[in-house]
Amino acid sequence: MDIVENAERFARGRHAGQFRKGKAKEPYVTHLEEVCDLVKQWGGSDIEQAAAWLHDTVEDCPPTSLLELEQEFGTDITQIVGELTDDKSLPKAERKALQVHNAPKKTTSAALVKLADKTSNIGALSKSPPDGWDLQRRLDYIEWAQRVVDALPYKHVAGMKEFEKRCDLAILRAYEDLGSIRQAQNAALEMLSRKAKRAGLDHAQAENFIKNFVKSNL
Ligand code: ZN
Repeated sequence: MDIVENAERFARGRHAGQFRKGKAKEPYVTHLEEVCDLVKQWGGSDIEQAAAWLHDTVEDCPPTSLLELEQEFGTDITQIVGELTDDKSLPKAERKALQVHNAPKKTTSAALVKLADKTSNIGALSKSPPDGWDLQRRLDYIEWAQRVVDALPYKHVAGMKEFEKRCDLAILRAYEDLGSIRQAQNAALEMLSRKAKRAGLDHAQAENFIKNFVKSNL
């Protein structure tokens, strides 16, 4: 059995019976499957793919420990998982602040898995948002994920594109589900103007671009 299959088997066992926070209540392993797929698509090594499968085991599946992973999977994989493991003894707000604060220190491998993790989480927020989250809570979550990703020292190009696309979609979905039509329109226009600026257009060109876009799409 290769290292990725071995990690998959281990993670499936440890996360058995756990479900995602979203209202679809998907089995937790669908998240791990997706994170590993993204890491693979973005050229991740076997070690990075194995770490993708294992990245939540120490945090979410006690008594799984880094020591146990070290014995089972060796130092390289365990080090990546260690970089991606929050200290659950801290209050949630502090853990979230630490993710932003510690992001710049990540190794290239940990940064790749982290980007895939956040990309998967933002996708889930569009597809199956947790029950009871209001508009502000959804927007705050997206903004926080963006701050973590922005602070990573290594940003895979295709990975960033996918992450940003999913953030845009999640923002629009949040307004569509919970905000006014006016807010949704404003958010869509802001996104277009950001895209136009990223493409190197000046203000007048960007305005023209948006006008043409609106004309041809509405
Ligand atoms: Zn995760």
